[in-house]
Amino acid sequence: MALLPIEILGSEVLRRRAADVAEIDEDLRILIGDMFETMYDAEGIGLAAPQIGISRRVIVVDVREEGAEPFALINPRLVETGQEREKGEEGCLSIPGLAAPVDRPLRVAVEGMNADGHPVRIEGEGLLARCLQHEIDHLDGVLFIDHVSPLKRRMLLQKWKRSFATDAVLKAEGEGRSGARG
Ligand SMILES: [Zn+2]
Repeated sequence: MALLPIEILGSEVLRRRAADVAEIDEDLRILIGDMFETMYDAEGIGLAAPQIGISRRVIVVDVREEGAEPFALINPRLVETGQEREKGEEGCLSIPGLAAPVDRPLRVAVEGMNADGHPVRIEGEGLLARCLQHEIDHLDGVLFIDHVSPLKRRMLLQKWKRSFATDAVLKAEGEGRSGARG
């Protein structure tokens, strides 16, 4: 296993739609192991492959406080979302130091494949549901800052910029995107 560098806001791969995984092979299992190691090292509860520069539809999640075992999901799809919504604080390993409340469905069902290639369905609520939505968003090039109002996003990015971003990133992320990405 290997620790991999995490892509930071401004990196193009974070804004790209990741490709479906066609085959589950040894390389993919190594990737999943590396993703877990990288996530734990960064003290995250979820990680998507684009965050380590790999534009493929793979996520890993460890939300132990919800009683769920750590798992990897390949080609995950959100198949159901509950009516009830909840606001909860989110951060992202790719936007270190920034957090904001994000409004999302409280319950979701997700289908995909596990690392053995078997179809799996995961139903989650609360933090697990939030984490699943956040990670699947990454596979579509969507970040949690896209779920807040454009004004709020600009404020967040201004704050973040002081320590991390360049003017070019701020302009692209703060002004170049519509606020209606989900
Ligand atoms: Zn993230």
